[in-house]
Amino acid sequence: MDITFPTTAEEYRTHVRSLLAQELPPDWKGVGALDPAERESFNATWRAFLVENALIAPGWPSEYGGGGLDLTSQSIVAEEFVRAGVPQYALPTDPVGMTLLGPTLMHWGTESQKEYFVPRTISADIRWAQGYSEPEAGSDLFGLRTRAVLDGDEWIINGSKIWQTAGTHANWIFALVRTEPELPKGKGLSFLLIPYDQPGVEVRGIKTMDGGFELAEVFFTDARTAAENIVGKPGDGAKVALTLLGFERGSGGIAAALAAKLELLRLRDAMREFGIVDVELRRRLAECWTSVHAMHCLALRNLTVTASGRPPGPESSISKLMMSEYRKRVTELAVEVLGPKALTPSGMESKINLGPQPLGVNSTSSTAWIADYLHARPGTVYGGSSEIQRNTIGEQVLGLPREPRPVPPTKAG
Ligand SMILES: Cc1cc2nc3c(=O)[nH]c(=O)nc-3n(C[C@H](O)[C@H](O)[C@H](O)COP(=O)(O)OP(=O)(O)OC[C@H]3O[C@@H](n4cnc5c(N)ncnc54)[C@H](O)[C@@H]3O)c2cc1C
Repeated sequence: MDITFPTTAEEYRTHVRSLLAQELPPDWKGVGALDPAERESFNATWRAFLVENALIAPGWPSEYGGGGLDLTSQSIVAEEFVRAGVPQYALPTDPVGMTLLGPTLMHWGTESQKEYFVPRTISADIRWAQGYSEPEAGSDLFGLRTRAVLDGDEWIINGSKIWQTAGTHANWIFALVRTEPELPKGKGLSFLLIPYDQPGVEVRGIKTMDGGFELAEVFFTDARTAAENIVGKPGDGAKVALTLLGFERGSGGIAAALAAKLELLRLRDAMREFGIVDVELRRRLAECWTSVHAMHCLALRNLTVTASGRPPGPESSISKLMMSEYRKRVTELAVEVLGPKALTPSGMESKINLGPQPLGVNSTSSTAWIADYLHARPGTVYGGSSEIQRNTIGEQVLGLPREPRPVPPTKAG
C-alpha cells in the first residue's frame, strides 16, 4: 500500500526536503551517527534553525511563533524529519512543551497566557515538566492530594508530584492540584502553571533502571504562583487535564509509525548481519511488520478525524495502546535476536530514551538495542497504563458497561 497526500501537500513535502538538503551536510547519516559532543552541538544549532523557520511548533498559529501549518503539512514535516534522521524536539523538555502544554494552552488558555507562555516555550526560556502523578495518584489521577489555596493575588501550593519526565531540565511545571477539597475527587481540581525558581519548590532526580536521571519528583512547600497562572477556571482542572492527556495519547501519528518502520528495518538488518535463520524469529519479525502497517493506517485515520478541528478524544487510547505494546514486542524480539550478545552489550550507545533510535545508529549495536528494550518497558505505564487504556477503549469508545469501581470505606470501617 502506497498512500500519497493531495498534490499541494506533496509539493510542501518537496519544499521540506529541499530545506533539509540545504541545511544538512552532504554526508549526513542521521543524528544517530554523531558522538555525544557532536550531537549536543548539532542539537543546539538545529533547534535555532527550527525556531527561525517556524518549524519547532509547526501547527501553532504564526502570531505566537508557530508555523501556522495545517495538520497534513505538520505531519509531512514530522515524517520528513524522521526520514532525514533529525529531531523534531532538540531539548529533553521540548516534547512536554510542544506536544502537551502548548496545544492545551491554545485550547484553554487566555489571550495573555498564550502571549506570555507560548513564545517563551518556543525560545526555551520556559521549559516545562508535567505535574500530574503523585505517589498515590497515578492511574487514579483524580485522587491527587496536592493542595492550592488562593491567598490574595497568589496561589499557595503544598504537596508533591512524582515521575516528571525531563523534570530536572525544566524550570516551570504545570500541575493538577486540589483547590476545592470539599468537592468529590474529580471536581474541585485546578490546573496551575508554577515556576521552579523559588524557595518553596524542590526538584529531585530519580535514578532509573538504565542508570540515568530522566525522571524527577517535585516537592511544593508553600510554593507560590500568580493568581492568573490558572488554565481554565477554578474547578476546570479535570477537563483541562483530560484535553492534555488526549494530546499525549494521540501524539504518535504518522511520523511515529514511520520511526517504528525504520526501527524494524534496523532489526531486519541486524538479523541479516547475524545470519538469523530461526523460523520463529522470522515469523515474529513479519508480525511486527503487519503491526507497523496497522499503526500507519490508524495514524492516517486519526489525521482525517483531527483535521475536523476537534481535540483528540478517548480514541487516542487506541494508538497509545497499540504503539506501546508493539514497542515491547519488537524490543523483546531484538533481545532474542542478539542472543548471548545481549548479556555483554557493546557498540554504539542509544541516542534517545523514549522511542525508536534516530537514523544513524548501527543495526548491530547491542548497547542501543538493550537501552531500547529497557525504555520500552515504561511505555505501557506513562501516559496511562495499558490496563487504563483498555478500560477507556471498552467504556468510552465501545460503550461497554463500566468496570466495577471499588466501594469507598464507610466511616464505621
Ligand atoms: C517513564 C515514565 C514517565 C512518566 N512521566 C510522567 C510525567 O512527566 N508526569 C507525570 O505526572 N507522570 C508521569 N509518569 C507517571 C505515570 O503517568 C504513572 O506511572 C501512571 O499513570 C501509572 O500510575 P502509577 O505508577 O501510580 O501506577 P498505579 O496507578 O498504582 O498502577 C499500578 C498497576 O495497577 C494497574 N491498575 C491501576 N488501576 C487500574 C484499573 N482501574 N483497572 C485495571 N488495572 C489498574 C495499572 O495498570 C498498573 O499495572 C511517568 C511514568 C513513567 C514510567
